[in-house]
Amino acid sequence: MENAVFYTDTEQELLEVMEDIRKLLKKTITFNLKLWAIKQNSLQMMKQMAKDIHTFAKLRQEYADMLAKEKTDHWESFHDVECTKCKFFTSLRPTKEAVYNDGLTYHIYECPKCKTVFRDSLPNNIKDTMVFAKKQYDFFVKRDKRGRINYVTLGVPKEMVTSFSEMYTNLKVADDNVIAERIEKEASAKNFEAVIADELVRFKVFKAELLNGGPLAAEE
Ligand SMILES: [Zn+2]
Repeated sequence: MENAVFYTDTEQELLEVMEDIRKLLKKTITFNLKLWAIKQNSLQMMKQMAKDIHTFAKLRQEYADMLAKEKTDHWESFHDVECTKCKFFTSLRPTKEAVYNDGLTYHIYECPKCKTVFRDSLPNNIKDTMVFAKKQYDFFVKRDKRGRINYVTLGVPKEMVTSFSEMYTNLKVADDNVIAERIEKEASAKNFEAVIADELVRFKVFKAELLNGGPLAAEE
């Protein structure tokens, strides 16, 4: 079978059973109009089913490729970074990732100029960056014992404080969308699997009928 790699076992088996049925049906000759219609319908239905299986398998493969690509892109893309020591600003690929004291994961870079190893200013994934942004925001808007707001005391511009809250909101929306898309894709994959399993049972019965002298086979 062509492209057998990305079919599930059930899909593969159903394709084979349908191919057997197609061959058996081709050998049958019927002059009974009702049986002739059943034969034509079955052939048409199996053709459509094989098409659907192929389309769905292709989508599933594309989805798997997309997930795999997300992982490699992470390491292959360049990021604008500034060396924490010599302040050299450049585009670099991360050398690795590491979990810091705050429990969040960051990309690690090596400065091409002074060879200093430093971490990115933001975590390298949506979830951790959300935690980071929220922590920053919460810290800046907190009041000390005398009731003074941290960002005022520290002379941090209000826009910067707001930007952390906006960053959190935007990331949350992006993350929710990604999760919703994944849930939808996985649910439709599961649904299709159930349909295929049912069809396999149905077509196996049909094949057995053809082999054991059912109405269509009787006309042979
Ligand atoms: Zn440097």
